[in-house]
Amino acid sequence: MAWFKKVRKPIEAQADKPSRVPEGLWVKCPTCSKIIYNKDLAASLSVCPHCAHHFRLNATDRLRSLFDDERWEEHDPGLVSIDPLDFVDTKPYRVRIEAGIAATGLKDAIIVGTGRIERLETVVAAMEYGFIGGSMGVVVGEKITRAIERAIERRLPIVIVSCSGGARMMEGTLSLMQMAKIGAALARLDRAKLPYVSVLTDPTTGGVTASFAMLGDVNIAEPKALIGFAGPRVIEQTIRQKLPEGFQRSEFLLEKGMIDAIVDRRELKATIGRALRFGGAVAAAPPVPAAEPVVSITQT
Ligand SMILES: [Zn+2]
Repeated sequence: MAWFKKVRKPIEAQADKPSRVPEGLWVKCPTCSKIIYNKDLAASLSVCPHCAHHFRLNATDRLRSLFDDERWEEHDPGLVSIDPLDFVDTKPYRVRIEAGIAATGLKDAIIVGTGRIERLETVVAAMEYGFIGGSMGVVVGEKITRAIERAIERRLPIVIVSCSGGARMMEGTLSLMQMAKIGAALARLDRAKLPYVSVLTDPTTGGVTASFAMLGDVNIAEPKALIGFAGPRVIEQTIRQKLPEGFQRSEFLLEKGMIDAIVDRRELKATIGRALRFGGAVAAAPPVPAAEPVVSITQT
C-alpha cells in the first residue's frame, strides 16, 4: 500500500497553446556549457566562439564552408542503394534508407561536387553522418570513385571530408570492397600526379579510416575528432591492456604521427588551399573583363 495518495489532479498541460520561445534558437555547448545564439554559431562554422568546440557539420554546410561561392556543380545526386542482400536486422535496410532520405534530403551518405576553394577548381566529397551514420555502402564507394576519376579526367585536385561510422554492414562484403575500389582509384590519381587532401572529422572510424581517409597526400583532422578503426572496448578486450588517455583523438594521433595536422575549422579552407597549391594545383584564371567596345572614329 502506498503511504501517500495524490488527492488533487495535476494541472494539465495546455497542448494547443503554442510556446512563445521559438525552437532551436539557442544551442548549449557540450564542452563549456555556454549558451550560444544559433546565428552566431552558424557564422563561426558551427565552432563554439567561447571554447572552440567543433559541432558536427552536415555535408551541405561543409561544402558551403569550403567553396568560395554558391557556384558549384553537384555530381551523381541520383544514385540510390538497391538493398542487394535484402537485409533485415532490427528493421529492414530498405526502411533505414527511406528514413535516411527523409532525414537528410539526400539519396545516400555523401555529396560530391566541383567548385572553387581559394580560387582553385577542386572536386570535393563530403560525407553526411545523418544518413545511417555516414556509413559507406556501394553508393558512397561509387560516388567517391567517380569523383576521383572525374578529377583525373579534368586534371583537378580532390578533397574528401570523412565523417563516418565505417563500412555499411547491411551491404555485407559489397561495402567492404569499396575500400579496395577507392584505394585503386587513388593510386591512379597518384600516378596522374594530382593532389588529394583528406579531412578527418568527428567521427572517422572503421573501413573509412582503414582506406581512403588515411591515404591523403596530406591528412588533416579537426580538433578532438574521434578517429580510429575498431572501438576502444574491442581493442582492450583483444590486447588485454588499458588504453591510454585521449586514445583515438586527433591530438593523440598527431603525436603518434598518424595524421599530419590538426586544423581549426575556421582555418580549414585556407589550409586546404595552401596544401593544394603546394601539391601543384593552379588557380583558375580570373574572369576576363568584358572588352571595351572599339569605337572607330572615321574622319571625313
Ligand atoms: Zn563551448
